[in-house]
Amino acid sequence: MVVMIYFVMEGYEEKTIASISSKNLLDTKTVVLDAGHGGNDAGKIGVHNELEKDINLTIVKIIKKELEAKNIHVILTRDTDKALYSEGASNKKIEDLSKRCKIIEEAKPILAVSIHQNSYHEDNVCGPQVFYYKSSKQGKLAAQILQESFNDVVGKEKNSRKIKSNDNYYLLLHTKAPVVICECGFLSNNEEATKLSTSEYQQKIGINLAKGILNYIKENKCLKNIDNRFYL
Ligand SMILES: [Zn+2]
Repeated sequence: MVVMIYFVMEGYEEKTIASISSKNLLDTKTVVLDAGHGGNDAGKIGVHNELEKDINLTIVKIIKKELEAKNIHVILTRDTDKALYSEGASNKKIEDLSKRCKIIEEAKPILAVSIHQNSYHEDNVCGPQVFYYKSSKQGKLAAQILQESFNDVVGKEKNSRKIKSNDNYYLLLHTKAPVVICECGFLSNNEEATKLSTSEYQQKIGINLAKGILNYIKENKCLKNIDNRFYL
């Protein structure tokens, strides 16, 4: 699950068109991949004790490999089982999330994808779902493409959850580059939790999300009126 913290920072309230300057250009060859949680923060814990943080990192590494094979420059927010906060931090969760945002801001990627696993109190709920920042056209486009990329993972009929806009997830709120959050499945669902912990299924997710990201990059370049600037 994504931590929902509304934390207003000056100048970040709205993602509106900024002035045109070269420093606002997104790097069309760079993608940031964010494996949610890490270290002491395990994220969601599955019905068979699966740890969300581990599944997230494995999937991220698979996507990275696939994208690098296509000459995409990939930056990971973490590549080990470690969160991004310092031990002395007064609010570890906020420091962890703000460091992830900083990596995205500095990279100016064409897209940042944050990988998570979901959980719900009703154990029949299942299926992947992609979230985007409510006023981001590019985020919405990426969310649609990545949601569709799960057709080849769970089957088209079972991929019935709809993309959802959001305006208070920390990562979506505090980044200017397009960011989507992929909840790949529910660890609270017996069948899905079992699948999500197999390397075969993780591989399937990683490969299809990488395909989706490549499609997004292609589509994004073709879009008229979107001229590769921040704040879209
Ligand atoms: Zn999570």
